[in-house]
Amino acid sequence: MISFPEKSLSESQILAHLQTLKAQDLDWQAGKMMALVYYPGKKYADIIQKAYNLFFTENALNPTAFPSLRRLETETVSMCAHLLGGNEHTAGTLTSGGTESILMAVKTARSWAKAHKPLISLPEIIIPSSAHPAFRKAFYYFGIKPVIIPIDNETYMANVQAMEQAITPHTIMLVGSAPAYPHGVIDDIKAIAAVAQKNNLLMHVDACVGGFMLPFLKQLGKPIPDFDLSVQGVTSISADLHKYGYAAKGASVILYSTVELRKHQFFVDTAWEGGIYASPSMLGSRAGGSIAAAWTALQAIGKQGYTALMSDAWEARQTIKKGIENIKDLKIIGNPQGTIVAFGSNKLDIYAIADELSLKGWHFDRQQKPASIHLTIMPAHKATAAQFVADLQAAVQQVNKFGWQKLTTNMQVEAVKGLKKIVSDSTFARLQSLMPQGKINEGKNVQRSAAMYGMMGTLSGTGALNDLVTDFLDKLNSLK
Ligand SMILES: *Cc1c(COP(=O)(O)O)cnc(C)c1O
Repeated sequence: MISFPEKSLSESQILAHLQTLKAQDLDWQAGKMMALVYYPGKKYADIIQKAYNLFFTENALNPTAFPSLRRLETETVSMCAHLLGGNEHTAGTLTSGGTESILMAVKTARSWAKAHKPLISLPEIIIPSSAHPAFRKAFYYFGIKPVIIPIDNETYMANVQAMEQAITPHTIMLVGSAPAYPHGVIDDIKAIAAVAQKNNLLMHVDACVGGFMLPFLKQLGKPIPDFDLSVQGVTSISADLHKYGYAAKGASVILYSTVELRKHQFFVDTAWEGGIYASPSMLGSRAGGSIAAAWTALQAIGKQGYTALMSDAWEARQTIKKGIENIKDLKIIGNPQGTIVAFGSNKLDIYAIADELSLKGWHFDRQQKPASIHLTIMPAHKATAAQFVADLQAAVQQVNKFGWQKLTTNMQVEAVKGLKKIVSDSTFARLQSLMPQGKINEGKNVQRSAAMYGMMGTLSGTGALNDLVTDFLDKLNSLK
């Protein structure tokens, strides 16, 4: 425990301390981060930040107190509806992020089913296995039975036929992603929506990462399938303003095909001593800043600006994708149609390649099933894409040279597998020392983590790994 501050620190002390802490973070401005940070360049970022600061103190909890925020929010929702195939019936709200939008879509589906299918006691929602974990989180929070259908192992798309076969009298909603985060592959939204409509089910499109990517790729003439509210049978869609919309963190939109459906999202309490309490989404107090910043991003960048930014990202994507395809032992996963690309290898240890790239300052996600590297490619990477390809070539050579590294990884994985056979899940969970401390996201002093990822792949989905990660989260949320 550290003590609660007795006296105040001066502004210079505080800022100096914050700068020191910040210096240990990854330097996203170097254009080597392929996840987490979406940056539209200084010109736009400055305006968006100004807008945030202008509404830094205001609270969107009570829209009658701040009609400005109400107006900014409804206008932002409306502009998003226009972008994403909505019509005069479309209704939505802003949320704090993709997770909240998805939680709301699931909660709304549950309330809709209570009203329209009252005989269902344990509602089921069918998702492709590649759908974002926010869905499983929502099922866990709201008591929905998860029905998770493995994606097609060649296309990495949702297996629509298997999803249809999984429908029972308790099913309330189907889900598709445009695109799914892991491989950047777009599910066949038309087909899923048609199945939903035929069976009188809701259908949600997770366009959290694609909502402000795909429309502008279409604008550039890229072949993007229909994925939004214009598709027959789609009843809701989520899109994150704080990803390719370049808004400040804390902004996403959830849109419904009808006002009636949106009503199932709302919470109202008229019995409270404190007066009538009405809340559209999960949060109570809501940051005025993120609403103002979202509105400002759309207005300041506009269709032309977004299309130009997407053009830069696409150029980087082409360089990187071609670079990967030109390396014999690597392969792109599925057919990514946007600016998210994942790749793996049949021959080399992709996690060892990842380690070499990390040592050169690149940051990205390491994935499992199949073992792969995930790149979210952004406008900033136009300047660094060629360097990435050169570093990747060098990394592959390095790993080819030191074949023993794969061997040691394999030996460790085998050792873990062996261990797994002889100890119980709970004993195994106590072996958390296997997990290098604080290394899920490598800091500056990167260490090789290929062995750990190999091990995690082996244990994926088991209680043992869940326990390890829960302990790890506990550590991350404690003072060191
Ligand atoms: C990012 C993302 C989410 C979750 O959004 P958060 O803003 O991180 O809560 C959901 N689905 C997809 C496809 C995403 O890319």
